[in-house]
Amino acid sequence: MKATIWGCRGSLATPGPATVRYGGNTSCVHVRTASGRTVVLDAGTGARSLGKAILADGVEQLDLFLTHLHLDHVEGLGFFEPLFNPAATVTIHGPRPDEQSLEKWISTYLSPPFFPVPFERVPARIEFIEVWHDRYVVDGLAITAAPVSHPGRTVGYRLEEAGRTLAFVPDNEPGLDPEAALELATGADVLFHDAQYTEEEYATRVGWGHASLPDFARLVRTASPGQVVMFHHDPSHSDEQLEQMERDARGLCVRDDVQLGREGLEIQLA
Ligand SMILES: [Zn+2]
Ligand SMILES: [Zn+2]
Repeated sequence: MKATIWGCRGSLATPGPATVRYGGNTSCVHVRTASGRTVVLDAGTGARSLGKAILADGVEQLDLFLTHLHLDHVEGLGFFEPLFNPAATVTIHGPRPDEQSLEKWISTYLSPPFFPVPFERVPARIEFIEVWHDRYVVDGLAITAAPVSHPGRTVGYRLEEAGRTLAFVPDNEPGLDPEAALELATGADVLFHDAQYTEEEYATRVGWGHASLPDFARLVRTASPGQVVMFHHDPSHSDEQLEQMERDARGLCVRDDVQLGREGLEIQLA
């Protein structure tokens, strides 16, 4: 499979001259499986451009995996063109709410007064799969969903196909629960993981749901993934600050291949 980042900013889209190298769009990763299936991880603002590309490729069936419903992970949904293609079938996988349903959550967000078009008039065929701590297979792709350490109902995903594994944990606070996400991340060929805060920043943001660099590094050293991508960049961090954090993370992880997520980054797992 091949993964391409379309958005790796956290919390709020952050366009502008200080973020051109790593990008300002929020969480969205495209995965093309070895069997040719189109998978999308999160629908942050990066989903707008990705949706155009998917439409141009003539893809009419895809799986969208949402980690949670915080706006930075869903605000591209209303601008994701496959939803407005009557020939398309979009299967939305996402966390099972405590009350009501995933469909109710999405339809509330994608309806007035939050969105101009009522959800029932969205033309694509949309199916919902609610997950929590689950393992299942779609067309040869084995999916593990598991709850992570983050406010509200939030999961991470592990995708396995033909002996290759991708773990996607954009929002996770191992400082409050060091075990969270370990099952998803351990031994993955590539891990995309929250690395939002410096140690100093985290001291005043405990409980906000994100990782400090030392906690990120502890998780990486324990899980020992093949490749590591720092994800969910803070809106206040410029390209230069992110590059300093990458140097710090490499030291803390004791490995030189830790890299910052950036829009356009492709990871081929073959
Ligand atoms: Zn987030
Ligand atoms: Zn969140």
